[in-house]
Amino acid sequence: MWAINLDKYENLIDVKGGPMEEALKAKEEGLIRHISFSFHDTPENLIKLVDTGNFETMLVQYNLLDRSNEQAISYAKSKGLGVAIMGPVGGGRLGAPSEQIQKLIPKGTKSSAEMALRFVFSNPNVDVALSGMSDLKMLQENVRIASIVEPLSKEEKDTLEEILREKQRLANLYCTGCNYCMPCPNGVDIPKNFTAMNYFRVYDLLDTAKSTYEKLKNDQKAAESCIQCYQCESKCPQKIKIVEQLEEVASKLA
Ligand code: SF4
Ligand code: SF4
Repeated sequence: MWAINLDKYENLIDVKGGPMEEALKAKEEGLIRHISFSFHDTPENLIKLVDTGNFETMLVQYNLLDRSNEQAISYAKSKGLGVAIMGPVGGGRLGAPSEQIQKLIPKGTKSSAEMALRFVFSNPNVDVALSGMSDLKMLQENVRIASIVEPLSKEEKDTLEEILREKQRLANLYCTGCNYCMPCPNGVDIPKNFTAMNYFRVYDLLDTAKSTYEKLKNDQKAAESCIQCYQCESKCPQKIKIVEQLEEVASKLA
């Protein structure tokens, strides 16, 4: 069941005569062996899908920059599901060079992509990670990383956890992504601009920050569309000087 969420599951998939019924029948007839889903929804809804008992494996997003599914992954594993990860390198965001990412563990890694993959492989609840590759060199690099028997030692994991917690704290200081400041009458996606800036400010991923900004610009949601009406600032619980910060985002990333 490709790219589902709880709403789709309840209203389109697990309905009389729907795909779930047919899939279960196909399994009973031996035409297929396993029923699986890929997922884009909240971690709470992920747990509800696991609890339907209809699925044997799942494919979900998980990486250094987005650990929101971590607990749900652990829950799924405890219920016997196979866990496949999509976007282990953050959909390419962690493929960009970053000294800070490469030095998340004391011995360092050859690339930020290596750090990202080793982080995912070191989670005992992960069975397989699907990492996009565009040339032979990347394939060889991924095979090398996937062959490391112990992706992270206990000490490395502890250090990494501590640094990631601190980075998340820094990112939240800047903007928690609560969305209270939205909508902007001129279409600026304020939290997404700050997320782009955090890639640079917190993780030293300048190329990733710039390409994220470029996408926002293509959708007319970038910081430079701000007309400084100041409607958003009073709504921010973090008291962020949004207009000033957006100016900084535009000057660094545009
Ligand atoms: S100040 Fe800028 S970002 Fe804030 S609401 Fe006005 S146009 Fe939008
Ligand atoms: S209200 Fe403040 S903290 Fe929340 S998303 Fe907007 S800028 Fe970020």
